[in-house]
Amino acid sequence: MRINGATELYGIMGNPVAHSLSPAMHNGAFAALGLNKAYLPFAVQDVGQAMTGLRALGIRGVSVTIPHKEAVIPYLDTIDPVAKKIGAVNTLLISNGAIHGANTDWLGANRALSEKISLKGASVLLLGAGGSAKAIGFGLLEAGASLTIASRSPEKGRALAGLLGCPWLPLAEAATARADALVNATSLGMAPQQELLPIAREALANFGVVMDIVYAPLATRLLQAAGQTGCRTIDGLAMLLYQGAAQFELWTGRQAPVEVMRQSLLTSLGCNP
Ligand code: NDP
Repeated sequence: MRINGATELYGIMGNPVAHSLSPAMHNGAFAALGLNKAYLPFAVQDVGQAMTGLRALGIRGVSVTIPHKEAVIPYLDTIDPVAKKIGAVNTLLISNGAIHGANTDWLGANRALSEKISLKGASVLLLGAGGSAKAIGFGLLEAGASLTIASRSPEKGRALAGLLGCPWLPLAEAATARADALVNATSLGMAPQQELLPIAREALANFGVVMDIVYAPLATRLLQAAGQTGCRTIDGLAMLLYQGAAQFELWTGRQAPVEVMRQSLLTSLGCNP
């Protein structure tokens, strides 16, 4: 990458951001298409000041991650309608000092699932009631799927199910459900909880497709057990990749070089030789 007087700047704002895989993924994509753009990590504490800074410095696009996905919303000039429903923004597009907010997490999840299942009319059991579950839940409704939420905490789970207009189950009863697809949007399976399954192994035969959004490790216990049961599986890299591809396309208007981005992510995760 050559930085010069015409280089356009992009980045990720969150706190912390040092662990983020997005700089490798987006810089790899910019380089592959020969674009004079660079992408940096921004560790941000004060969101209001950061938003003023983005405008003032002419930064073109920003990914937003934890804990700022909701806090950026009051500072936007315009917001995408689905991001507004979700109540969280993971992508900023900045043009002539105006900031537009969008959410590509749901687009990434839907694209990942759509490689294995047609979502229109499909039934989905969604595990978890955190930030990712919310984006995935709204996205599945956009795609015409029918949902059930199962989560550990009844308050959060019932509140999300109420927003989505769908049934809620305690996580401990998730094994009683049947659906075309199961999506794990809890952090069970992620280090340091990598030995834990979010649902009983015996119940996996109740689902045709199993997607785990946890990507560290990539081959989670859940996906290993689902594969052994005969389910079609989707790992957490797919959602991460496709939400990034959707960001790239919003920022550049060009088709994202998905294979290049996938390899950058795999290398960052230590999965490439
Ligand atoms: P949140 O903290 O917002 O939500 C975490 C969810 O996991 C909550 O519903 C929480 O339950 C549940 N949970 C955590 N520990 C347990 C446990 N021991 N037993 C039962 N439930 C548990 O996190 P996010 O939604 O942001 O992220 C969730 C996971 O998804 C993380 O592993 C993250 O790395 C991954 N992720 C992957 C992405 C991708 O693109 N592949 C994108 C974003 C996140 P409760 O409601 O009861 O607290």
